[in-house]
Amino acid sequence: MEDAVNVSTAGGNGPIVIAGAGYAGLHVALRLTAKLRKHPEVKLTLVDRHDYHQALTELPRVAGGTRAADAVRIPLQDVLATRVRFVQTEINGFDLAGRQLLTGAGPIGWRRLVLALGSRPNDFAIPGLAERTLSVYSASDAEQVWTAVNKALDAAAAATDPEQQRRLACVVIGGGGATGVELAGELAEILPKVASGHGLAPDRPTVQLVEAGPTILAGSSPQLIEKATKILSDLGVRVRTNAVIAAATEEGFQLKDGHLVKGGVFVWAGGVKAPELVADSELPTGHNGRVKVDQYLRVLDRPEIYVAGDLASVTDPRTGHVLPALAQIALEEGETVARNLDAELNGRPLEAFTFRNKGFVVSVGTRRGVADVAGITTGGHSAHLLKDAIEWEYRQSVKHLRGWDPVPG
Ligand SMILES: Cc1cc2nc3c(=O)[nH]c(=O)nc-3n(C[C@H](O)[C@H](O)[C@H](O)COP(=O)(O)OP(=O)(O)OC[C@H]3O[C@@H](n4cnc5c(N)ncnc54)[C@H](O)[C@@H]3O)c2cc1C
Repeated sequence: MEDAVNVSTAGGNGPIVIAGAGYAGLHVALRLTAKLRKHPEVKLTLVDRHDYHQALTELPRVAGGTRAADAVRIPLQDVLATRVRFVQTEINGFDLAGRQLLTGAGPIGWRRLVLALGSRPNDFAIPGLAERTLSVYSASDAEQVWTAVNKALDAAAAATDPEQQRRLACVVIGGGGATGVELAGELAEILPKVASGHGLAPDRPTVQLVEAGPTILAGSSPQLIEKATKILSDLGVRVRTNAVIAAATEEGFQLKDGHLVKGGVFVWAGGVKAPELVADSELPTGHNGRVKVDQYLRVLDRPEIYVAGDLASVTDPRTGHVLPALAQIALEEGETVARNLDAELNGRPLEAFTFRNKGFVVSVGTRRGVADVAGITTGGHSAHLLKDAIEWEYRQSVKHLRGWDPVPG
């Protein structure tokens, strides 16, 4: 870890600063390290509030108590080459005209900046939601969910009224996207197994998934949705669709249709938006505050700043829709940004970003999952194994990319 970095931004080979060591930012750092071998004069700095990278796709397992929070925190010092200067600090804003990142460790100057700050939960201004629900957007968040679930089970065991016991032992998850489905499946499979340790019958804890739209996993194939719904039903998850949350109160989720969904723990997994500091900046933003970029992933009218990952608002020309906030997209964008920074240094033309969809995999519980890969939908144990394999492969790639460029030039 380094303290304040005050570097000159002058010169064509001046510093490259990457803001955020998540999927996109870390990938840019790892890929660029090798590409910059021919340019020892270029300083490469990575900035993040944490000195570890978080494997966010594994968080539902932490929230379900099957994986320790530390197991999804990958220390940056284990994966970064010495060439990369790492600064652990909070990024508080941008001085775009002065080409400086404003941080708790002082201003950090750049010649080229890569913004990869990810996203944060979007409460869509639903009253009470931010105050009364937990979220799952960091290892600590996920750990808090598991702690809250255990406390609720203890409280349920101490309650004498069966109605109150049922309410306290119910986990309610808002948002039926991939995160909500994974979390619901994980908890529904685990809770009956841990119930007796809390003095409860295995059938006492329950899980409810509340989704505003007509289906869970919106945008996925009907076959995938059907298979996921069937697994959730087997696991005893109550899925409520077309259930719009109007407010989160002390009683529970107040739905627009007048129903009240009661529970002991409430988790919000209903969507994400860009971090606050981006909303407060002069950067051009679109839907959910994501930053608008050109085909090379540079901020519109600010070619010295690249954006990758959840923060980038990238429209898929084939569908006309903005690409979703997904790790596989963040990695591909990180790859393009690394290649374009290298191209600039070597006087080559920039490469337009093209998304190559590798498929969609969601784990549903600790043993089963659903997958849409190459137009084929599968559900069951094989899909869960595929998710495990993707996560394993990702960890291996992070370790082995240190200073190695699998796609030179
Ligand atoms: C629970 C969960 C499960 C998911 N499962 C899947 C999945 O199965 N498959 C899939 O493809 N995608 C999944 N996703 C989405 C995926 O994790 C994101 O799309 C991906 O993390 C985006 O990468 P990123 O680099 O843009 O942001 P992130 O990985 O979030 O990284 C952002 C980084 O910026 C840092 N940062 C942010 N603000 C500041 C600041 N002000 N100062 C300093 N540092 C800062 C953060 O500490 C973080 O390291 C899941 C997400 C969640 C939350």
